[in-house]
Amino acid sequence: MEGAPVRDRVAWVRGRIADALRRSGRPPGSVKLVAVSKTQPIARILEAHAAGLSVFGENYVQEAAEKIPLLPAAEWHLIGRLQGNKVRRAVSLFSWLQTADSLKRLREISRCAEESGKTVRVLIEVNLGGEGSKTGAAPGDLRVLLEVSAGLPGIRVAGLMAIPPFRADPEESRPHFARLRELRDSLAREIPGAGLVELSMGMSNDFGQAIEEGATMVRVGTAIFGSRQGRG
Ligand SMILES: *Cc1c(COP(=O)(O)O)cnc(C)c1O
Repeated sequence: MEGAPVRDRVAWVRGRIADALRRSGRPPGSVKLVAVSKTQPIARILEAHAAGLSVFGENYVQEAAEKIPLLPAAEWHLIGRLQGNKVRRAVSLFSWLQTADSLKRLREISRCAEESGKTVRVLIEVNLGGEGSKTGAAPGDLRVLLEVSAGLPGIRVAGLMAIPPFRADPEESRPHFARLRELRDSLAREIPGAGLVELSMGMSNDFGQAIEEGATMVRVGTAIFGSRQGRG
């Protein structure tokens, strides 16, 4: 696929998503494809948009601030680390923040959202304990984070997100995906009305496995855009 037009890549990814949904007996369209456009120039993003994609994920607030105003009709998700000094900017740019992982951050997001009169949809990033993973909330802290979030007016926590350690063999990601789904299911049982629906998991290498394990959002970059330039 390297060198193939974005349109063909999008069709290929969609085909594989449909296959994974069929294999797991889930209805068509029950997964949101988040096209990860970090480091990609706006021309490539517009190509993807023309191919029918309308949900994009960016990692860096600064970079996103240059792109989002050029395609405001799309739904933009922050999927990279959210620094304290970037919260206000992030809230003004994105409709979804996928990487909230502390009480402090959740409160800051809510306060900024309230001040700008909006409600931001939030996923809590979970640290599944893989080696080298430094971001994300500990599973044992999720319950408190969710209970407090329920009282924060500027945010709506819609689910969980995780970035398992990269594995060349995507089957090795499967236990991590299953673990995230189990966490969501048990928290949803323990905290009725928590609204925990979304599971953001799976990237270019393993989104099929993630869908089979229950992903409702997959974050796919290189399979759509080809390899990235520079950082990222
Ligand atoms: C870059 C990135 C992706 C996309 O990775 P690909 O392997 O290019 O699909 C997904 N999620 C996060 C958090 C990322 O940083």
